[in-house]
Amino acid sequence: MADLIVIGGGLAGSEAAFQAAERGLKVQLYEMRPFVRTGAHQTHDLAELVCSNSLGSNLPDRASGLLKNEMRILGSMLLECAETASLPAGGALAVDRELFARLVTERIENHPNIQIIREEIKGIPKIMAIVASGPLTSPALSKSIAVLSNEEHLFFFDAIAPVIHADSINMDIAFRASRYGKGEHDEGDYINCPFTKEEYYAFVEALLLAERIELRSFEEAIKSGVKAGHFFEGCLPVEIIAERGIDSLAFGPMRPVGLRDPRTGRRPYAVVQLRQDNLAGSLYNLVGFQTNLKFPEQRRVLRLIPGLENAEFLRYGQMHRNTFIASPKLLRPTLQYIERDDLFFAGQITGVEGYIGNIATGLLAGINAARLHHHENLITLPSTTMLGALCHYVTHADLKDFQPMKANFGILPPLEAASKIGKRERGQAYAERALADLAHALSRDNLTSDAAIAGEFRTEDST
Ligand SMILES: Cc1cc2nc3c(=O)[nH]c(=O)nc-3n(C[C@H](O)[C@H](O)[C@H](O)COP(=O)(O)OP(=O)(O)OC[C@H]3O[C@@H](n4cnc5c(N)ncnc54)[C@H](O)[C@@H]3O)c2cc1C
Repeated sequence: MADLIVIGGGLAGSEAAFQAAERGLKVQLYEMRPFVRTGAHQTHDLAELVCSNSLGSNLPDRASGLLKNEMRILGSMLLECAETASLPAGGALAVDRELFARLVTERIENHPNIQIIREEIKGIPKIMAIVASGPLTSPALSKSIAVLSNEEHLFFFDAIAPVIHADSINMDIAFRASRYGKGEHDEGDYINCPFTKEEYYAFVEALLLAERIELRSFEEAIKSGVKAGHFFEGCLPVEIIAERGIDSLAFGPMRPVGLRDPRTGRRPYAVVQLRQDNLAGSLYNLVGFQTNLKFPEQRRVLRLIPGLENAEFLRYGQMHRNTFIASPKLLRPTLQYIERDDLFFAGQITGVEGYIGNIATGLLAGINAARLHHHENLITLPSTTMLGALCHYVTHADLKDFQPMKANFGILPPLEAASKIGKRERGQAYAERALADLAHALSRDNLTSDAAIAGEFRTEDST
């Protein structure tokens, strides 16, 4: 008999199952792949990254870097695996996605307290459970959640970027460099495809005229009140960005700042950056190039990018459903369901956005489920920490404008002297405050990452 059921062996579910199992709970982890597919995942590995292979900034004075530092202190297993599988990506933590997923899968498979069950769960379990079924939650389970919560799900669509084979890139045109020369490799971590003004305008025109996959339900969703702003801003399809104005891409994902074409000695008018996608360096993804063009159109239009005239595609871009619940109405900052103490939600389904934020909420849900099992007080993280601020945001946001949120300094309580310091120093000050609060709390309450997390870590009664 299990102590805890975790639904979904993705990023949040894998971390949650591990954290609870480490604290002695017998965990059943249900993953429906490979028998039921999501439309975006391609393997049956746990913790598969469905789009970008970057887990965001690793710099300590950036929001995502701060979140990672908090997770390191709290003992995140997935972050450990990501570091083992990391690839050169400037200040970001990018991973070989296959290696990362394999490492996580092995850690879960080999854990004596975790049983993996390859089955779709269609209803909400009666015993303690963590729902971490992600943005592509199966329709049957979505329906059960809607019935449970008496709320219609919010939903919207998201887009993924294409991946190409490295040996199909024309390096006589493309060049290696990191913006402002700030990469790990001397020759630069990214491959850059440079555009002249004429090439750029011709490309944008072709992009705008290209055929797209029809999105009937999405269009209906817009009409019924789900705004286009409900795309992840960082994941807007390029053709949608291009519609905002002819130069919008040149100021967005194709911005050339910090790059100089070694062949001309000048900054190109625009640039498409390619980021390494696997350890072998045989695959590259088009950074920020999520798209919903029909596949033959992607092949045609993306081959207009200078240096990609012979590009071979491993994966084309796609758009997908993205499901999240009305957390401000339904969840507590402990990630417990408002009307049931032993039901937790974690990951993208809570409205926390981004790989690393999803892993982090899995970590907290796993710890809190274990604490509930052991009759300990549950933890609400202080909102000066990045994870605490994310949990606070999703449970307190105005429901009317509720949108998924990724780690950012804007959701932290302001610094007292914020106006007197520059942006970079501000990031450092936020990070110092968050980590100091964490350290203070850990020492004050004599809690370790194994035992619990605390803080200013307000603890709450589990009931
Ligand atoms: C298409 C797409 C692209 C994205 N790209 C990015 C990106 O580039 N960068 C970024 O930071 N974030 C991205 N995200 C957002 C988000 O960070 C990822 O989706 C992330 O994987 C979410 O983590 P999760 O654990 O919540 O869900 P997932 O990692 O998707 O895990 C959920 C798991 O639950 C399983 N499941 C679903 N329903 C059931 C059921 N009923 N029974 C059993 N198992 C079930 C699924 O098969 C899946 O394995 C993207 C999201 C989508 C949809």
